[in-house]
Amino acid sequence: MKKKILIIYTGGTIGMKRTDKGYAPSRFLGEAIAEIPDMKSDSAPDWELVEMSPLLDSSDVTVKEWNKIARLIYDNYADFDGFVVLHGTDTMAYTASALSFILEGLDKPVVLTGSQIPLSEIRSDGRDNLVTSLLIAADGVAREVCLYFSGKLLRGNRAVKMSADDLVAFDSPNYPHLADVGIAVKYNYSAIGVPSGMPLALRLLSEVPIGVLKVFPGIQFGLFESIMTEKLSGIVLETFGAGNIPSDCGALIPIISRAFECGSVVTVCSQCPSGTVTLGAYETSSALKSAGAVSGSDMTTEAAVAKLYYLFSLGISKDEIKEKMEKNLRGEMS
Ligand code: ASP
Repeated sequence: MKKKILIIYTGGTIGMKRTDKGYAPSRFLGEAIAEIPDMKSDSAPDWELVEMSPLLDSSDVTVKEWNKIARLIYDNYADFDGFVVLHGTDTMAYTASALSFILEGLDKPVVLTGSQIPLSEIRSDGRDNLVTSLLIAADGVAREVCLYFSGKLLRGNRAVKMSADDLVAFDSPNYPHLADVGIAVKYNYSAIGVPSGMPLALRLLSEVPIGVLKVFPGIQFGLFESIMTEKLSGIVLETFGAGNIPSDCGALIPIISRAFECGSVVTVCSQCPSGTVTLGAYETSSALKSAGAVSGSDMTTEAAVAKLYYLFSLGISKDEIKEKMEKNLRGEMS
């Protein structure tokens, strides 16, 4: 029997049309993809399309949309063999990370994809991205939240948008590809996650105040003090290299200690796309650890942000959040 895939169209370049003000999401996509010969081929699975409303440029996607997409998958889970989420590329890695946490016990493929050139334009990369994602969703091999783009199938919560204009726009520098797609789809079986065997549960996210602070030479940490101690629950500190901050950072360490006492969790990630944060490897990072910050290890900032939303939404204690931030929950860290 043919597999059945639900395509969820959220917006993004793939379905955009030119307007006076630049590309904007449009409702032409349903008709356009029905006209793609491959989508009608006998070798393609059956599919249905659901369009979210409003259609969004992914810069406008928020926790609300993450929850909406997850709910659509949850509500249709029994009726489909897999899911393809058409999404803008700008925040696709955030959405993929968030879905990986919301959809606990996932045992079917959820493949996010989109394009750099709209389907409405010549040379669109959307056709191949869509058709290949559909086949990958129907294969049922990678039963986790993944991101397919230009020949690479990536773990969703390891993916990063690497280029604003290359067609090969994504990679997962800290994790092997789940598959490489040429003439055939070559799955990397040892990299693909094994479903937990638990039934699917929906862990919807709350709109927790989360912030990302990127360290740079000469940063005046004092400027961020009241935000870090009074406003934010979760903070991702994007540090240099393996977790380093300027050593003349007298202000930061007491701020982090105070933020911690006030209930926030500071997670240290790296500005380097590849490699691991090791707090204490250098003198300049030891103080962070003593002040109560946790190591984001080799997590992407996108995954760390989504994980903070997820853990704060669970209503668990700050100490449990700290402990879980340093543990691998969905394949987001090594
Ligand atoms: N701004 C667009 C979006 O993220 C870019 C894209 O889809 O490639 O929705």
